[in-house]
Amino acid sequence: DSPVLRKPEWIRVKAPVSKGYAETREIVRSKGLVTVCEEAACPNIGECWDKKHATMMILGDTCTRACAFCNVKTGMPQGLDRQEPENVGRAVAEMGLNHVVITSVDRDDLEDGGAQHFVEVIEAIRAASPGTTIEILTPDFLRKPLGAVESVIDARPDVFNHNLETVPRLYLKIRPGARYYHSLRLLERVKERDPNAFTKSGIMVGLGETREEVMQVMDDMRSAGIDFLTIGQYLQPTRKHAAVDRFVTPEEFKGYEAVARAKGFAMVSASPLTRSSYHADADFAALKAA
Ligand code: SF4
Ligand code: SF4
Repeated sequence: DSPVLRKPEWIRVKAPVSKGYAETREIVRSKGLVTVCEEAACPNIGECWDKKHATMMILGDTCTRACAFCNVKTGMPQGLDRQEPENVGRAVAEMGLNHVVITSVDRDDLEDGGAQHFVEVIEAIRAASPGTTIEILTPDFLRKPLGAVESVIDARPDVFNHNLETVPRLYLKIRPGARYYHSLRLLERVKERDPNAFTKSGIMVGLGETREEVMQVMDDMRSAGIDFLTIGQYLQPTRKHAAVDRFVTPEEFKGYEAVARAKGFAMVSASPLTRSSYHADADFAALKAA
């Protein structure tokens, strides 16, 4: 087991108690949905669910990978839930979402990595709730046939997000099943195929990366045409997960944000509690209005 570092005072989270939170939970339960908010034990759940902002996790709750930072369970997943696209579409309509984030576990077991299922979910949301903008946070589709990712791009999500998670040096330790340059290239392919799509990526800090390495990742991202960036503090879900190397201070986050804006990202969120989907709804609305 890894040692647990004491959390600093800036990592404070309110208990989830509001009416909006309860309503969101009711819809999630009644539709049998899986959310990353719960699976990842996200510290922002009280705030996000109160505002009816939730990140749906499709393709089941069991992942074929075992990233050292992630709380989602690893194993051999079950078959696909064919009702899921419709259920997600209905839930989005019922919640009246302006913007939805859809993510998934990694499905290395499926021939197309779950690409077709992503397409069906996007189409079902469009049909049930045409005004909702759709952000997808996808797996890396490593070793999947050419055309799998393309089919997802062609379904025209408004934002195509895929997280690089950490700096390349730490991949073997933190994200052993993935390849840094493959993930970077995935986002570049999205931009090449659909220049109108917004691309987005994020990393966690506090895992042992240096400031220079973070700068390099930002440059790599801009070279791949990535529009939006998120940077948040890594929090250790359990003692079995990678240890926190250090808590990055709010001032350092502000520094990262300023540099990222100077490097040309259109949207940047960098703070201790930033998560990939944190404030994604408000940020996207602001960008469209600008
Ligand atoms: Fe859910 Fe994302 Fe909000 Fe966390 S930040 S509660 S994962 S929507
Ligand atoms: Fe978690 Fe995604 Fe890694 Fe699976 S691939 S263990 S869901 S971070």
